Amino acid sequence: MLYKVRLWRENLNNHTQGIWANAAAIIGQSFIIDGRSVHWQSAWVSVALVLCALRYLLERYCLRALNRQAETPPPGWQTMLLSAGAIASAMLWSLNAVVGMPDYSASEKFSVMIIISALAGGATGTLASMRIVGKLYIASLLLPTCLAMWLSGDDHLAILAVLGTIFALIMLHSHQNNFRLLDNTLRLTDEKETLIRQLSENNRHISDVNSHLEQRIQERTQALEFLANHDPLTSLLNRRGFLSYSYQAGTVQRQQTLIFIDLDHFKDINEDMGHDHGDRLLQAFSQRLSHEVAKLAAFIGASDYPICRWGGDEFVVCLLREVNPSDDSTPHYRQLHAALSASYQIGPHQVHLGLSAGIFESLTDSMPQTKQALACADIATSEAKKNGRGQISFYSDNSYAMQRRRLKLAQALTQAHQDDSLTLQFQPILTASSLQIVTYEALLRWQHPDYGPVAPDEFIALAETSHAIQTIGRWVLEQACRQAASWPIGAGHGRPCKVAVNTSIRQLVQPDFATLVGNTLAATGLAPSRLIIEVTESVLDERNMGRASATLHTLHQLGVEIHLDDFGTGYSSLSRLRELPFDALKIDKSFVIGMDEKSLTVVEAALLIARKYGLRVIAEGVETAAQMHTLQQMGVDELQGFYLGKPANNTTV
Ligand code: C2E
Ligand code: MG
Ligand code: MG
Repeated sequence: MLYKVRLWRENLNNHTQGIWANAAAIIGQSFIIDGRSVHWQSAWVSVALVLCALRYLLERYCLRALNRQAETPPPGWQTMLLSAGAIASAMLWSLNAVVGMPDYSASEKFSVMIIISALAGGATGTLASMRIVGKLYIASLLLPTCLAMWLSGDDHLAILAVLGTIFALIMLHSHQNNFRLLDNTLRLTDEKETLIRQLSENNRHISDVNSHLEQRIQERTQALEFLANHDPLTSLLNRRGFLSYSYQAGTVQRQQTLIFIDLDHFKDINEDMGHDHGDRLLQAFSQRLSHEVAKLAAFIGASDYPICRWGGDEFVVCLLREVNPSDDSTPHYRQLHAALSASYQIGPHQVHLGLSAGIFESLTDSMPQTKQALACADIATSEAKKNGRGQISFYSDNSYAMQRRRLKLAQALTQAHQDDSLTLQFQPILTASSLQIVTYEALLRWQHPDYGPVAPDEFIALAETSHAIQTIGRWVLEQACRQAASWPIGAGHGRPCKVAVNTSIRQLVQPDFATLVGNTLAATGLAPSRLIIEVTESVLDERNMGRASATLHTLHQLGVEIHLDDFGTGYSSLSRLRELPFDALKIDKSFVIGMDEKSLTVVEAALLIARKYGLRVIAEGVETAAQMHTLQQMGVDELQGFYLGKPANNTTV
């Protein structure tokens, strides 16, 4: 509260007491003064009382006005009137004393003097809040009366006048002290209130800051929680979020379908388009995945369906249903697979994304079971990949056995070239016209200590998924060259046979492959013209061609022949045939063994293309004399097959 307002309130409160004291004194005086000798006394009493009443009314009015506007200092006219009322009262008293002095008896004079002195004494308190008015009031009460007594010529009164004046001075001093005391008290109260207000404002500010901080901490905690459980690129759950995903465990076990998705050849897509576009593809895929899984969940009645980016290009979907469905959901899964495989427009690129998915269905009521289920779905995905990618595979016990076998084989493969379990067999390739052996194809054999002989189609594919293909490939090249270098000049055509070495695309894209071949030829003493490198159609794929092309050209310049193996089984652009230095096409055995109309068309087409590009044509898989005759008549240059010679440890040269 403002100091002035507080002082004003103090003023008004004290004023009431002063007015009452004044009124009491006026009434007391009327009893003391003998009205018969002082005839104007009753008129004075009336005027004094009326003035008291007016002052009282004014004081009430001011107090009410102050209560209405507690914070507003009084208008000037209120203080003026109130002060004037007080001074008028004092002057009325001194008028009474001065005028009445000649008429009053001695005891009346003393009584009046005592009353006036008492009023002056009281005013030091009741008017303590009015610094000037209080002093004027005291002075107006006492000094004129003392002067009148001094001038009266009466010695007694003169002494009284001196005493009265001294008393007046003491009262004035006392009033000044009271005023200071009150003034200090009010100022201190004001300061105290200001301090309390500031303190409470500070407290409020601190509690505001605290609650704001609490809210921010809560928001930050939620953001951190989200970051810890979600993949920042796709906003899907991450591994941690997925494994700690808590769905309400019901009273009954729930049907759980886990779909493990692996994007096919995503690494190549990433390298071709750049990592930024690769990231955008992952985001586009994730969005479509979320949308399609929500649709699938609605179809099959799954209440929960957490979706997770398991890592890199792997995603996991878990669908949970209350009831064990009676109908088969396979068509829905296939629809999901088809929707996700449709093309994606990423910047200037239209990307056709293949995906291999493994599905495992089981009953569950908790996440630990989901972990086991995940392993099964992962196995099913490997199965899908092994079967040629771009498809769905369902987990079965057989898948598990196959997975275990693959794992054991993959492990054993890394050591195979050191433990003598690898051997090479050689299968002859003959000219179609004179049936003379011109080449032996080196075919790798592997005897696993537990599983026995393992087919190259199986273990080569496994080796290609790891670094093992490099070490095994080096071993084959070295062995094949070394053995071929020891072959004598073949009877019949007067030239030593060539050796054909199958080469994986993973070996071919290594930048130092041509150097390796050159070094091996030099180390084994085999003439480059006696080596044939057989490559599959994967070399024509645009993702490999750039890197393989330089290697193949270097090898060709060395004098090494390059043959395109398994011709007809791939689906690469044949127009690229021209860009690579091929010497021959090897028609895949599936077109020879079948020998139906369609197969013959492929053989004819191969012959046409080969003639156009000046290449020789070799047909593999000749099992019968009839097949041999047909191929001879069609104009195939060389033949290979069980009918003409099976793969064997020793060559006949
Ligand atoms: P490929 O290069 O097309 O080899 C020819 C395959 O056809 C061989 O199977 C051979 O035994 C088989 N074959 C030959 N004549 C006939 C026939 O008249 N009838 C039938 N049914 N089959 C015949 P193999 O030895 O099982 O090799 C399979 C594949 O494994 C090879 O196909 C080749 O792609 C791969 N492979 C074999 N050895 C190596 C190697 O050292 N390195 C690499 N990278 N791949 C190899
Ligand atoms: Mg071959
Ligand atoms: Mg072949």
